[in-house]
Amino acid sequence: MLEQIRIVLVGTTHPGNIGSSARAMKVMGLEQLWLVAPEHFPDAAATALASGADDLLARARVVDTLEEAVADCRLVVGTSARLRSLPWPLQTPREVAQQVVANPPGGDVALVFGREASGLSNQEMHLCQAMVHVPTAQEYGSLNLAMAVQILCYEIRMAVLGGDGARQIPDSPPARAEDLERLFVHMQEILEKSGFLNPKSPRHLMARLRRLYLRAGLDEKEVNILRGILSAYETTPRKPWEESLDSNDGDA
Ligand code: SAH
Repeated sequence: MLEQIRIVLVGTTHPGNIGSSARAMKVMGLEQLWLVAPEHFPDAAATALASGADDLLARARVVDTLEEAVADCRLVVGTSARLRSLPWPLQTPREVAQQVVANPPGGDVALVFGREASGLSNQEMHLCQAMVHVPTAQEYGSLNLAMAVQILCYEIRMAVLGGDGARQIPDSPPARAEDLERLFVHMQEILEKSGFLNPKSPRHLMARLRRLYLRAGLDEKEVNILRGILSAYETTPRKPWEESLDSNDGDA
């Protein structure tokens, strides 16, 4: 899916924005950059701001008109900073990304971005089947071009990942219920030995600690670490309530 998304920048004035857009694309796994009549390209500023994404610049297609850039696309989506009365319903990047991923049009999809100063012309917008607006503050809604590209690419990526983007691949499976129970038994034992928990007056301490640790969603390794810490404390038995020292009655 990501390889079918084409970012089309129309009439870009500042070459730095072309470089930053290439970077915004590459970090999200998009590769197809099309430039319609850029004012300065290739350009050292574009290369500098692309950073590690200069390969996208090298492969960028440069054409004279938007018609050429989108000719073979199955879906053309424009973007606009303005909430002016457009003959299209405006959608959010998330809505469009989810639609595109849920119903892939079976070919390339163009996301079209306008000029820094003036956006897309009406004629260019008439080539678009849908328009996207990033819901910005009302007083000032004009994003930097590359930042608008970043938001769209991010939403496409999140839609492709099914919202699971930030989830880490765990290096240890979730702890088994019986291991958690052993941890709590061990913990109670140490708390009693240390004098923190008075077994004659436990109040709700263990219930509260269970709630705390269960909420954390411990994995096997984490349970082992906690068991190891508890074992390390086992060497220092102290029961203040038996020695009539200050006792902690265990109420958390
Ligand atoms: N003054 C211009 C601003 C263009 S900003 C105008 O009113 O149209 C340059 C490009 O960045 C826009 O053409 C659009 O592609 C993108 N962009 C900026 N802000 C945006 C927003 N809030 N939503 C969607 N795209 C935006």
